[in-house]
Amino acid sequence: RSELMDKVVSLCKRRGFIFQDSEIYGGQNGFWDYGPLGTELKRNVRESWWHDMVSGHDPIDAPEGAPQAFQMVGVETTIIMNPQVWKCSGHYDLFVDKMVDCKEAKKRYRHDHVNGRWVTSKRKADGDAAEPKRVFVTAVGEEAEIQDRALSYFGLKKKYVDRLEWEGDIQSLTEIPVDDYSSVVGPDASEAGTLTAPRDFNLMFRTIIGALGTDDDAAFLRPETAQGIFVNFKNVVDSSRVKLPLGICQIGKSFRNEITPRNFTFRSREFEQMEIEFFCHPDQSQEWYTYWRNRRFAWYTSLGIQSENLILREHHKEELAHYSVGTADIEYAFPFLPEGDYGELEGVAHRGDFDLRSHMEGKLKATDEGTLEVELNEHGQPKYRGSGKDLTYFDDQIRERFIPHVIEPSAGADRATLAFLCEAYFEDKQPDEKGKMQSRVVMRFHPRLAPIKAAVFPLVKKDGQPEKAKEIYRALKAAGIAATYDEQAAIGRRYRRQDEIGTPWCLTVDGETLENGTVTIRDRDSLEQTRISVDDVVDEISKRLRA
Ligand code: ATP
Repeated sequence: RSELMDKVVSLCKRRGFIFQDSEIYGGQNGFWDYGPLGTELKRNVRESWWHDMVSGHDPIDAPEGAPQAFQMVGVETTIIMNPQVWKCSGHYDLFVDKMVDCKEAKKRYRHDHVNGRWVTSKRKADGDAAEPKRVFVTAVGEEAEIQDRALSYFGLKKKYVDRLEWEGDIQSLTEIPVDDYSSVVGPDASEAGTLTAPRDFNLMFRTIIGALGTDDDAAFLRPETAQGIFVNFKNVVDSSRVKLPLGICQIGKSFRNEITPRNFTFRSREFEQMEIEFFCHPDQSQEWYTYWRNRRFAWYTSLGIQSENLILREHHKEELAHYSVGTADIEYAFPFLPEGDYGELEGVAHRGDFDLRSHMEGKLKATDEGTLEVELNEHGQPKYRGSGKDLTYFDDQIRERFIPHVIEPSAGADRATLAFLCEAYFEDKQPDEKGKMQSRVVMRFHPRLAPIKAAVFPLVKKDGQPEKAKEIYRALKAAGIAATYDEQAAIGRRYRRQDEIGTPWCLTVDGETLENGTVTIRDRDSLEQTRISVDDVVDEISKRLRA
């Protein structure tokens, strides 16, 4: 599996999908650039999402499975928002990961979870070389399974481990006195020297607004696009003649100062999100939660992800944020993960009225009874004041005023793009023109996602074939279909070049074209070649793209 990942990464660089950021200067950990084909691929991912969720949405009739018809609209909000937003949303205090420093190796590690369950490993303090190294892994789940995952996750070899200790549940993890061990194991046991105790690290990037700005003027790059939607809820409702149930959608960059960016673009520091905040009546929120979970899962399979590579994982009660009634992750079997493991593509969360209430009243915290109340400072004042604006909604049909509940399907454009890349990669053997078997790499992208939809070739560079082929190429481009023209090299090579970048159809102009006005159209996956009239090319490709 890791071999497959290496092949995908290498194809991405070789064919111009994804490059390391600032590569000529040695790159930057956690930042990636998209090349010409990657840009088209990711744009198609975004555009498919926007079309399927927003612009192509039918607000008149209820879509299949939906409790009723509803509206979907878009917004585009800023990356830097008023810092009070992050104080009230909880990000300023709580958007943290646990971090440990390794003093010897001068490296930083993130206490992480494996498949959504917390795992941490510890090595005894007095681990001098003569002593057997000891690793303590605490986790929930099947012991053998978790043990293997934990070892592989931390890159530990079994030979470094002479004992594994298991605790019963997540709570007991926090009860292990960290001071008993002066070290916590990092990616490699052999380099785990003296590590500090885990401490909080806020993932928001800071910046300063204004030329004379001081630390008091600190602002933050948004770690999610969602808050831009919540703070505009009232503006949208007041200005757009929309009614609940209503989805407000946004695609945009988000930034997180991840402690250990890894796995290609999967965990980056700058990435793009595609988020929906769906506002509804509290009594209907459970139904909408179920609807969105299923609908968003189906979106990935509709774009070619095999359902056996995708799971919908409901969070356990102890994993839920305190305000959440339910959260499900849509996860994909990324090839960099051990067999049977899945990585998050999208989270679908039932957030109750937490967000709108926070922006009205101030930062909320959970009480012992499990309700929410405004967090107070030592003077008995709200720790972070809300906007004081009325973010309730009046439903004139039922004549009731309420704070809408929110269902949040939150997806990552880069993670989705990476999943589509991994899913598309295939190798097979196909006969060339002379009948000799040749190995071929083929990216089986769904046609909607393929960076180039059609390639047009003249069979030979003479007899008017190039002129005819260019005419077809220009007609495709004029119709808004991403096409390419290629007359270099033997026809078989040209086909293989297109297979490798996932072009679904190749059109070849040959001797017959000039006689009877037809071209061959070759299908990337079935390799079937049929003849169609030159006049029908644009319609045929458009029809296949809609299929
Ligand atoms: P993880 O647990 O993997 O850090 P998360 O649960 O913090 O993810 P959310 O806050 O739910 O992620 O963000 C929603 C989506 O945004 C994720 O499902 C993912 O697709 C994307 N995303 C989040 N963090 C990153 C990142 N560092 N790099 C790329 N995409 C990300």
